[in-house]
Amino acid sequence: MFHGIMWQEVASTPIYSAIQFAASFAPTSAPPPFMGLDAMANILESEDAHAELVILVVGETARADHFSLNGYPRATNPRLSLEANLISFSNIHSCGTSTAISVPCMFSYSAHDGFDVKSARNTENGLDLLQKAGVNVLWRDNNSDSKGVADRVPFENFRSAESNPVCDDECRDIGMLDGLQAYIDGKSGDILIVLHQMGSHGPAYHRRYPAEFEKFTPACHSNELADCTQDEIINAYDNTILYTDYFLSQVIALLKANSPKYEAAMFYVSDHGESLGESGIYLHGMPYRFAPEAQTHVPVIAWIGSSSDIDYAQSLALRNQANSHDVVFDTLLEVFEVTTDLLPAAEVKLVVLEEEEDEKNHNVAR
Ligand SMILES: [Zn+2]
Repeated sequence: MFHGIMWQEVASTPIYSAIQFAASFAPTSAPPPFMGLDAMANILESEDAHAELVILVVGETARADHFSLNGYPRATNPRLSLEANLISFSNIHSCGTSTAISVPCMFSYSAHDGFDVKSARNTENGLDLLQKAGVNVLWRDNNSDSKGVADRVPFENFRSAESNPVCDDECRDIGMLDGLQAYIDGKSGDILIVLHQMGSHGPAYHRRYPAEFEKFTPACHSNELADCTQDEIINAYDNTILYTDYFLSQVIALLKANSPKYEAAMFYVSDHGESLGESGIYLHGMPYRFAPEAQTHVPVIAWIGSSSDIDYAQSLALRNQANSHDVVFDTLLEVFEVTTDLLPAAEVKLVVLEEEEDEKNHNVAR
């Protein structure tokens, strides 16, 4: 019997619609002016001949404790587990419990504590700064949209068969890799590609993966969680993680094909977690201060290419440090060696860069 509490982003739709309805009778006022970050963005002059190629995968509804890389007893990461130069950061918490909060928050200069989703929509974000600094930025989306983050950078929708060549029951995340090599080959200089996954979005977990990824059975095949046992729901959910494991392994394969020509790296960050029946709670979107660990503890993974100047050993040593989505903004600016006069929002770094040769020389001279 199902007696659970279901928290879901879409549950707020009627309230939101009512507000919109009321707003339609309010006198119209001009939208507030777009806010710049008041920071110049410059790419550091560097001796190294390689350009940066970074793929940032924004995950959906993946919870950290269902990744075998983080100790989950089921083999949900069979492909990523075989990768060298991969780091799974085990202690990172999301900014929000919904896509609508977490995605803009991780790209925002504002830290979690001071984040306001309305002003973020109207303010420059990390992608804007990177683009201003000369980085080629591309956002590909197989989710709902970028939640405003990619409003001013090139955006491609992969939720339809017109753009996504891998659609069956629904369009698959793997389709976002189509034509990406040609995109890379057509650019000169630094490249950041953001891939926004459909990932593990519920409640129809069974629709999030092709049949060959149904390894954990019996899996819930209903859109109504009430029709299934908790074990069946978890089986279906774990199959979505298995599919994400495959997707990320193919992202890494693409980056390997571009190493060492590029300083290649992949970052994977889920937007929030998911309740799977613990204490009778399902789905996500609970108010943050009441939200269980399952909804806020997110998987974060880095893969570091052979010519990257991210220091693997030093970065690996940080894998169990407590951190938040604030690291995304800072890490992007740091990896692309973009300097601004903004102070970093995150207190602790995600990755450590190797010291520049000239910096070392300078230190020796002193
Ligand atoms: Zn989400």
